[in-house]
Amino acid sequence: MVRNLYHELLHTLGLHHEHTRLDRDRYVTIQWESVVPGKEKNFKVKKGDLQNLPYDYNSIMQYGPYFFSVDWNPTIVPKKSGVHMGQRTDLRSLNITRLNELYHCGKYTHTGKISELVCLCKRSHYITLYSHHVPILSFPEETTH
Ligand SMILES: [Zn+2]
Repeated sequence: MVRNLYHELLHTLGLHHEHTRLDRDRYVTIQWESVVPGKEKNFKVKKGDLQNLPYDYNSIMQYGPYFFSVDWNPTIVPKKSGVHMGQRTDLRSLNITRLNELYHCGKYTHTGKISELVCLCKRSHYITLYSHHVPILSFPEETTH
């Protein structure tokens, strides 16, 4: 299994694998007969808030198609053609959006001072009203390769 710092960090921050989302059966098919016996738990759906964010095949939290395969056949088959799964190099803007949602980061409330807002994540970053709103975790626009 390829380990990756971003991937493990996102687990630590509370994110599950993309293919264990509640709605994953709309996007991928798990081929249980090809899963290494004893490793089925890695493919079980996990309860969790979808945060109204779309399924991301290219997420750093998505397994590749052959992860835990016992017979060289894919364990995860995407329902959409032409998608790439299992990349471990790019932290995606959707990953950042998910974290910001989870930690209520980038959503501001009044501090009491008339011209200031404080971020709901309580990490003490403030913005001044009428200034440009910049979430603390931001990521450059994705490029297609
Ligand atoms: Zn993982």
